[in-house]
Amino acid sequence: MIPVTKPYLPNKHLYKQYIDQIWDRQWFTNHGPLVTELEKKLAEFSGRKYAFFVANGTIGLQISIKALNLKEEIITTPFSYVATTSSIVWENCKPVFADIDPLTWNISPKEIEKKITKKTTAIIATHIYGNPCDVEAIEKIAKQNNLYIIYDAAHAFGSTYKGKSLYAYGDIAVASFHATKLFHTAEGGAIFCDNEAIAHRVSYMRNFGHNGQEAFWGLGINGKNSELHAAIGLAIWPDIEKILLKRKEIYKTYFNFLYPLIKNNLIQMPVVIDGGNSNYSYLPILLRTEEELLKLRELMHMNQIYPRRYFYPSLSKLPYVNETCPISEDYSKRVLCLPSYFTLSVEDIKRIVDLIKKSYNL
Ligand SMILES: *Cc1c(COP(=O)(O)O)cnc(C)c1O
Repeated sequence: MIPVTKPYLPNKHLYKQYIDQIWDRQWFTNHGPLVTELEKKLAEFSGRKYAFFVANGTIGLQISIKALNLKEEIITTPFSYVATTSSIVWENCKPVFADIDPLTWNISPKEIEKKITKKTTAIIATHIYGNPCDVEAIEKIAKQNNLYIIYDAAHAFGSTYKGKSLYAYGDIAVASFHATKLFHTAEGGAIFCDNEAIAHRVSYMRNFGHNGQEAFWGLGINGKNSELHAAIGLAIWPDIEKILLKRKEIYKTYFNFLYPLIKNNLIQMPVVIDGGNSNYSYLPILLRTEEELLKLRELMHMNQIYPRRYFYPSLSKLPYVNETCPISEDYSKRVLCLPSYFTLSVEDIKRIVDLIKKSYNL
């Protein structure tokens, strides 16, 4: 059985050493030393002043929207995981969709400009599949129109633009460390920023607004994470380079095997912008039609291979929003993510690609 992904398993011995520390201290949560250590590593890795380890990426997005006091309309991408849009709606703002660029599959800066109104307060863009957004164009638009930028950087661990981590871009960048992500803490996420006032608000908001034991700064929620989750992240940390390299190798192997199909326009893969570097944490292919996709998926299922339709449906078609984004709606029907994880072998990749070729009678 080959699933679309598998969580990376850290060295158990190293994980146990962290667990022993937790047992010795009997300190499970509330900003313990392992959370602090992970936050220090994350801040350094991102090049940002502040990194807050939070319970998950979704609460990270919600806290970010609250911390920037965003209201009314937020321009966002229709091609992402549901949490990007649901967080906006959950925080009582209105998602306004700007369609995606057909080459990078990321939000199109030109489309963002078309959607700006007097009510727009921010842009929330996703670096989809770890592929960098056009951060320079987006920053320019935000500056000209006095808008905040939040990046949903859930896929972006290890991705860079002009040599800097994607976590370093935007007023705030939010990471997810869910078990399916390239770097993970089973459940978890992080909020990255440089601005002290924003950091101040985030730090209180993720901890119920507590200001000491008996006073409150203001409204907050429980967005913190535990020592046990931090321990998984710390146990994976020494393997980061190895994991990133492996993902790139897997991508290259697929790409080489798939090249004849790409050349003949049977399938497409997203383009990385100049200056950008993807972490290749996903392996999306765009087929010509939804029928071809369903046929291929059926063939794969018969062979115990389980690709996933990331990201389907287009968020513009969620039941609680209703907008039209032709490119996103078209692509989301035709995109299939192929298996990619640390222990996936070249033989398995070959088998998967052979099935793709078979479904095209090649
Ligand atoms: C995984 C993911 C999230 C949500 O992260 P969680 O940690 O699972 O809450 C948000 N946005 C995108 C694009 C994701 O892939």
